[in-house]
Amino acid sequence: MNSDEIKKKAQEINQEIVEWRRYLHQHPETGFDLPVTETYLKERLQELGVEIKKNYGGSGFAAVIQGEQESPEKKTIAIRTDMDALNLQESSSRDYASQHDGKMHGCGHDAHMAMALGAAGLLQEYRSSFSGQVKFIFQPAEEIGEGAEAMLKEGVFTDEPEVDAIIGTHIGSIWSLPSGQVGYRKGPLMAAADKINIRIRGKGGHGAKPQETVDALVVGAEVVSSLQNVVSRRIDPLDSAVVSIGEFRAGSAFNIIAEEAELSGTVRSLSSETREQLPEFIEDVIEGVCLEMGADYEFEYTYGPPVLENDADFTELFIETAGKMLGEENVVEISQPTMGGEDMAFFLQEVPGTFFGLGSVNPEKGTDAPHHNPEFDVDEDVFWIGAALFTAVALKWLAG
Ligand SMILES: [Zn+2]
Ligand SMILES: [Zn+2]
Repeated sequence: MNSDEIKKKAQEINQEIVEWRRYLHQHPETGFDLPVTETYLKERLQELGVEIKKNYGGSGFAAVIQGEQESPEKKTIAIRTDMDALNLQESSSRDYASQHDGKMHGCGHDAHMAMALGAAGLLQEYRSSFSGQVKFIFQPAEEIGEGAEAMLKEGVFTDEPEVDAIIGTHIGSIWSLPSGQVGYRKGPLMAAADKINIRIRGKGGHGAKPQETVDALVVGAEVVSSLQNVVSRRIDPLDSAVVSIGEFRAGSAFNIIAEEAELSGTVRSLSSETREQLPEFIEDVIEGVCLEMGADYEFEYTYGPPVLENDADFTELFIETAGKMLGEENVVEISQPTMGGEDMAFFLQEVPGTFFGLGSVNPEKGTDAPHHNPEFDVDEDVFWIGAALFTAVALKWLAG
């Protein structure tokens, strides 16, 4: 199957992909439990004649297309899409806007699913022309960074057919790519994204008698500002990290000194060495401040997705395939990794593969809003690119 043929077929089914995406966009669900999404995807896959395997991680599941060519060594490539939406109120008046109050596909995972269905249709049609297997991985709970890990634990990679390589994409404005361009990067593309919880215990009392108290709110404020020094003073300036406190809860009334303060935040890093050091650096700060001010603390560091690392050889195969199909000028290198996290990283830790960016920024169409914003939308005219690249890269990789 040559590149031009795949491109033409994918362009022909773009409108169908749009319809799938719009249904999914109207029915956003969050976390692991995505019954409407799961049912819809399985129905479409059944219509396409694709074999559905078991569920992994709640509503997550696998589906497989067997190539019909004989070959002594049957390899398997996975095509991965996330499935979940956000707890966010969509502010759109578009006729395909969310019908689920307070939930929205504000990250583009609806488009990922629809493009994966598109690729499933194409690969099912081409199955007489390749050997090996394509395993589709429909993954829940990406936004909370837990879905990929849960699917791996339940055996999605080790159950037959075992997965040897993987490809996935993120559409939208993350890398500011204009509509129609794709972005690649060898090596680290996205950051490890961990979570911290801090509970500070002081001694509450009357607002007029601070000398009899240990003010947990003041201790917490000091911890927040001292944590800024972790990145600026303890991390190699040539490396990158982020420590951001996003929640701070303390106090019950204007004239009462707070007994407790609760803080939570996100910690991002781009190398495993830095990531290993961060829990200790952070706890040093909390311990120092609490000791100085006479407070106690509890500190919890929760590891999320690791650094997302794209395999160099696989990415080279992707670049060649995309260049041939879209023209080299539309295949651009993402020069810097982003500090955003993405749990595709768990899959890429197990097997080689690549996660590429699919640009859909077009101000005239209003598709330039940031992700996780109530105005977010994607350019539906680029969907064929995702379906075509999934297909072409899978076929090229399976051909060896
Ligand atoms: Zn997101
Ligand atoms: Zn996303």
